[in-house]
Amino acid sequence: MHFSFVTLFPHLIEPYFSDSILQRAIKSDLLSFDCVNPRAFSANRFQKVDDYQVGGGAGLVLEPLALSSALDSIRAQNPKTHIIFVTPCAKLFTQNDARRLSKKSYITLVCGRYEGFDERLIELYADEVFSIGDFILTGGELAALCLCDSISRQVEGVLGNAESLKGESYENALLEAPNFVKPHIFKNLAIPSEYSKGNHAKICDLKLKAAEAKTRFHRLDLYVRYKQGFKNEK
Ligand code: SAH
Repeated sequence: MHFSFVTLFPHLIEPYFSDSILQRAIKSDLLSFDCVNPRAFSANRFQKVDDYQVGGGAGLVLEPLALSSALDSIRAQNPKTHIIFVTPCAKLFTQNDARRLSKKSYITLVCGRYEGFDERLIELYADEVFSIGDFILTGGELAALCLCDSISRQVEGVLGNAESLKGESYENALLEAPNFVKPHIFKNLAIPSEYSKGNHAKICDLKLKAAEAKTRFHRLDLYVRYKQGFKNEK
């Protein structure tokens, strides 16, 4: 799977792939990425890519010419690329989206800066738009990396142990049950004794109850859906 990041700040993207799971995935040829900088497509002699808003308003906006040329060049190389703009004005990205998008072979993630994009770019180029939360970042790079990371770990072979994906929060209707490792007693807090006794049916039962309690406490909205019989689409 290949990711293209359209960004004015490639140096913010590159280090994320220099270690850990995504680095391993790149070394194993499961993943690859490149960064395309719209500045390289700017006709302006100072490589300016932003401009004042028509009609007034605070802050600069990414102008459409350089960015559309950058996207045209990506599409010319791979007409099938799936283009995603990250913007706070969109549906929230979820685990279902990560799972679905992990079946694509080429994804382009477009990172905004300043006050965002000229709206016509989204109209003309976006296959999808996603927000990563109801808050505003200074730019789209972190959001694009969030999407890329969660999509990548769904790609077969990227996680050392595919079993890790099962039972994870948001893979099912409930959040994941609490996990523990040794020592059995840590700062006076004991692991629930059933976990250590080896009776798997009882452990499963206890984990389900713990997952229900955790979901109810942290995410009442998910718990209500779970109680109504909602199942995550796969
Ligand atoms: N003025 C815009 C915010 C611009 S923030 C507004 O009020 O809607 C600059 C860029 O950061 C955006 O274009 C987008 O690419 C990125 N960004 C900021 N917050 C984001 C979020 N919650 N999710 C996804 N991208 C975000």
